Amino acid sequence: MAKSHDIDALNIVMAASEAVPYVKTGGLADVAGALPVELAKLGHRVTLIVPRYRGFQTEGRSLREIGTIRVRTAAGFVDATLEEDVISVGKAGRSVHVVAVRYDPYFDRAGLYQGPDGDFSDNLARFAFFSRAIIEVLAFLGSRRREPISILHLHDWQTALAAVYLKTAEYDRATIGDIRTLLTLHNVGYQGIFPGSQFFEAGLPADLFTPAGLEFYGSVNLLKGGILFADKVSTVSPTYAKEIMSPDGGFGLEGVLASRRDGVIGIINGIDVVSWNPKTDSYLAANYSRTDLSGKAVCKRALQLELGLPNCDVPLIGVIGRLTPQKGFDLLAEIIPELMAEGVQVAILGTGDRILEDRFHSLRERYPQQIGVALKFDEGRAHRIEAGADMLVMPSRYEPCGLTQLYSLRYGTIPIVRKTGGLADTVIPYRPSTALEGRATGFQFSEASADSLLATILLALKMYRDGEIWTSIQQAGMEVDYSWKHSATLYVEEYKRLHAR
Ligand code: ADP
Repeated sequence: MAKSHDIDALNIVMAASEAVPYVKTGGLADVAGALPVELAKLGHRVTLIVPRYRGFQTEGRSLREIGTIRVRTAAGFVDATLEEDVISVGKAGRSVHVVAVRYDPYFDRAGLYQGPDGDFSDNLARFAFFSRAIIEVLAFLGSRRREPISILHLHDWQTALAAVYLKTAEYDRATIGDIRTLLTLHNVGYQGIFPGSQFFEAGLPADLFTPAGLEFYGSVNLLKGGILFADKVSTVSPTYAKEIMSPDGGFGLEGVLASRRDGVIGIINGIDVVSWNPKTDSYLAANYSRTDLSGKAVCKRALQLELGLPNCDVPLIGVIGRLTPQKGFDLLAEIIPELMAEGVQVAILGTGDRILEDRFHSLRERYPQQIGVALKFDEGRAHRIEAGADMLVMPSRYEPCGLTQLYSLRYGTIPIVRKTGGLADTVIPYRPSTALEGRATGFQFSEASADSLLATILLALKMYRDGEIWTSIQQAGMEVDYSWKHSATLYVEEYKRLHAR
């Protein structure tokens, strides 16, 4: 249905279960925090809806109560309080309005999705509540501002039900039933799957609990619901958008995704180019730029010192990330003896699976002169590895977008990545031809095996020793623009297409 009013400045509502600067457990928070700001910079009106958790960072912010909403739950209606914060954006008086939904029985807990004993058992009820609250906030904003909302942008399973409600239970609501929805998938490995016996918590008609609806092999699958009912589905890289259509990448949802006749679009995430800037990064021993890389050598020496490794001019390989099977760091662990024989040093920073943590720990004990390991979350160390390492390895089995390789491109640290998802889309692999054209920004391998990884690292080491090509690869990577501006523009184009439908 075409709309008559001005479509140049859109009225965008975004909803996510976490967003910086308030609350973060992963990359979703980075996107949900950065994208609204970028959209506002482009002149759009943006409201971000998030749950008000106990750990919500309020320092330096000024949240104020703006009203209450009545939210339907399986146990009846409850009242939730809305608190608003305003984030100023740029100098033109633009801002992002943040609406935090406060309902303490669900969100006043230590942890967002999990406690010490694992996932909260009422997560379906909690996020069904949040998704209903999103609908009520839309109605609240609609009546307060008297300005139609152009688009509702949802993220991941925690908000997916909002798309279902808009097309089913809330379809007839005069002011909001017509709002278009975009659902972005950040990692199809996480779908919000719950026992079928909990379906009633979603407050949806029973006929939606079928294989053609939200049922997933007897369970409830919230992401599946979102994929079926959102007006458009996107994910965080073009290659991942294709991969999730196959049994290897779709985690059982490949058929549902492929059944969308309008396909799934892929838009690469941007990075925070202010915090991640080698010219100004205050975590570093020295700053540097594409045209003067001398500070990078200082960062390398400082990193060696920090890791207790000898200060010598050998290639230093960085590893940063969650130590889970997805990231493929077990492949790296397998080839450590061969790498040690090449005389390289390795800097590892990550937390995750106990077995892999133990393995890296014992490799450190075996090669104390060549391996530095920190099994913790350490923002400063992540910056110092990005700056001080010569190359960064990401052997991911799958990678929806990946941020670490984008930082390393910006820091002149050459990424060695598996050709998958966002890694395939953001790293131009070294080949004699791409190097000659000055386009190569890193190294890629296809097969998720230790042998392929080793062969590619050995090729990279060969190029490292041939300094001239190495510097041109570094500089090509440092030139690429991965700020949010470009991606935000692509989202706006999609919003406009949807809005005009
Ligand atoms: P994912 O979202 O799958 O974990 P990404 O590469 O998209 O992977 O984002 C990971 C982010 O988390 C990056 O900013 C990376 O620097 C950071 N990170 C991961 N592990 C650690 C750690 N142990 N210490 C500090 N930062 C980390």
